[in-house]
Amino acid sequence: MASVFPFLTAPAGGWITRFAPSPTGLLHLGHVAAALFAREHAEPGGRLLLRIEDIDTQRCQERFIAATLEDLGWLGLRWRDAPRRQSQRMDQYRATLDTLQERDLLYPCFCTRTDIAREAQSSASAPHTAPDGGLLYAGTCRNLSATERAARIGAGQPYALRLDMRRSCALAYGAERRRLTFRDLKRGVCACEPEAFGDIILARRDTPASYHLCVTHDDAAQGVTLVTRGEDLRSATDVHRLLQTLMGWPEPVYAFHPLLCDQNGKRLAKRDGALSIRAMRESGMAPEAVMEMARRAKP
Ligand code: GLU
Repeated sequence: MASVFPFLTAPAGGWITRFAPSPTGLLHLGHVAAALFAREHAEPGGRLLLRIEDIDTQRCQERFIAATLEDLGWLGLRWRDAPRRQSQRMDQYRATLDTLQERDLLYPCFCTRTDIAREAQSSASAPHTAPDGGLLYAGTCRNLSATERAARIGAGQPYALRLDMRRSCALAYGAERRRLTFRDLKRGVCACEPEAFGDIILARRDTPASYHLCVTHDDAAQGVTLVTRGEDLRSATDVHRLLQTLMGWPEPVYAFHPLLCDQNGKRLAKRDGALSIRAMRESGMAPEAVMEMARRAKP
């Protein structure tokens, strides 16, 4: 698909895009619209990849992976390459964390969610939130001494790994203090402000690699040249550009689509029981009719 920015034209072989659902529920029309958006941008000549983002073992379920693959097949959406499953790539995410750790860009954080919420409540000013709505971490554990860290880890205290945002940005911006940007197919060059996220978590005990880490790693590993995703993930791109720069990974181009809403203007979400593709199928709808609905509702 052409861009209004001539410097953002597709490479000779077309864009490599991906559809990356998280199997936390059944697919709904919003997913199909997102898959179509990714497919359209890969045409003509490019390639659409399928990636199952099942890193969150608490929320993702095997039965939803099976249902996702089945529903996509029923709709006639096909992939040349075998789908990539994030849960099978833990060694690669671990290696990325090791690289960042060797460069002293990560630190262990022992604060619990309750500690962080308490800290935010007791702060004199209103609690600061990151662009994704999460609470900004005050950085309590950033200043622990090496001895203290070793003692707590030795005592078996659980911890998360956080990115030292200030150090990371200083390294990424270099001596010339070159700010990061990303290229949006519709809006052109956009400035990034990863600092607004504070010291983000890149790994936890229950989820040993975070969304930001895995998605950025995989887009590079799979050679994705155009990341298509919902507008709700636009701000996360600032963090992804930082990780790409720190790791020396290629910079993809981005294209964002609006999220589908119901008649009341409320965003379709699996947790609210948005009408699933499975339900439409069981009600007797033909796959072509479902595809047509997604195409019409398409962002
Ligand atoms: N897995 C994410 C989701 O289902 C999409 C990931 C991305 O595009 O960065 O919302």
